[in-house]
Amino acid sequence: MKNELGFFPTPYEDEDFRSLTYRYHIRSGNLNITKTIEELFNIKTHRLAHFPRNLDYLAERLPEKLFLTTDYFIANHTLLALFLPFLSLDEREKILVEFRCASDRSEIGTRLLSPIVSTLVRYCPTCLIEDFERFRECYIHRVHQYNFVTVCPVHRFNLVTHCPKCGAPLSDSFGRFILMEPTCSCGHYLGDGRRVEVESPTQIQLFNEQLARDVKFVIDNVDKLNVEIFKEKMLRLYSHKGYLASQGMFINTKFSKGFLGLFSEEMLQTVGLDSIYLSNRTALKVLNFNGRPKNQLLHILGMEYLSQSVKGFISSEFTTSPFGAGPWSCKNTYCPDYNRFVIQGIKVVLTKKLNIFLESLLVLAVA
Ligand SMILES: [Zn+2]
Ligand SMILES: [Zn+2]
Repeated sequence: MKNELGFFPTPYEDEDFRSLTYRYHIRSGNLNITKTIEELFNIKTHRLAHFPRNLDYLAERLPEKLFLTTDYFIANHTLLALFLPFLSLDEREKILVEFRCASDRSEIGTRLLSPIVSTLVRYCPTCLIEDFERFRECYIHRVHQYNFVTVCPVHRFNLVTHCPKCGAPLSDSFGRFILMEPTCSCGHYLGDGRRVEVESPTQIQLFNEQLARDVKFVIDNVDKLNVEIFKEKMLRLYSHKGYLASQGMFINTKFSKGFLGLFSEEMLQTVGLDSIYLSNRTALKVLNFNGRPKNQLLHILGMEYLSQSVKGFISSEFTTSPFGAGPWSCKNTYCPDYNRFVIQGIKVVLTKKLNIFLESLLVLAVA
C-alpha cells in the first residue's frame, strides 16, 4: 500500500482526466505540472497527454472515501471510452495494460487509437458558465474533445478553442493550463456570445447535434456496446434492410445511395469525411471493424443510418437472421441428415476477402 493522497478532487460528470489532474494541481500548490504528474502517476513528463498512463499508481493512493478504481476512471474519465466498444478483446487488453500500469514514455494511441482527439481543449460556452455557477470552477467535458463533435450535445452550441473576442487560445496542446473560470487569458467573458435558442436549425446543425448526442451515448454506455454486438447487429440490419444478397455479397449501390442520400456532402464535410471516398464500397467501409485504425465516426454514422441513433441501435431487439429463423436444413448431400432441419445455430463470419460473408455451421443436433 502506497502513501494515501491527502486529498483528490471529486470528479464531475463526464470530466476528462486532464481536468481532474489540473484541478489537483491547482489545489496542491505545486509549482509546475511536471511535479503534479509525477506525484499522481509516477511518470516524468512535462506534458499532460490526452490519455493517462499508470492509473493503478493513482488509484492505489486515492483517499478511500472516493471509491475510485482504475476501471471506473477509464470508463468515466478518459477519452478511451469512445474507442473501447470498437476494439477486439485482444486490442482492449493491450491498451488497458498501458493505461493501468505502463510507466515508460511510450505514446498510447499511435498504434491502435486513431487520431480523433482535438489538439486544443474545446469548450461549450454555456457549459463553462453553468459549471462555474454551480461549482465555482470550470472543467473539461470529455464529449467535447472528439474532433467530429462540433456542438455541445446538451446546449447545441458550437464548441470553441479560442476566445471569440481576442483570439487567445483557451488551452495549450501540452495541457499546462486549463480554464478554471469562464474568461480568456485577457479577461474576456466567454459567455457573451452564447445562443439561447437555436432557431430553425439547418440540416447540418441537426446532423451535428445528433452526432454529438450519439458520441455522448457511446461514452456513457461503454458496457452496453462491444465489437461482437456491433458486428452481429450491423449484419442483421444489413440483411433486414436488403443490403445483403443471398450469397452474402453487399449490395453496395443500394447502401451507398441511401447512406449518401441521408448524409449530404456538406454534412460529411463538417466532420472531415469525403463523400467521394465514401461513394464506393460504402457498406464495407461503415462495417469495417477489422480495419486499423478504427473509424469510430463511420461506425456511429452507420448505426444512425440503420437505427436513427446509437441508442436505437443498442436497444433494438433484433431477431431476424440473415438466413431466416432456425433450425435450418442440412444441404450436404453426403450427410445422413440431408434436407432435415437439424442445424440449431449459425455463425456469421466476414472473410478476409471482405465482400463475402460465409455461414459456418456451429451446432449440429440430431433431430
Ligand atoms: Zn454545453
Ligand atoms: Zn479574449
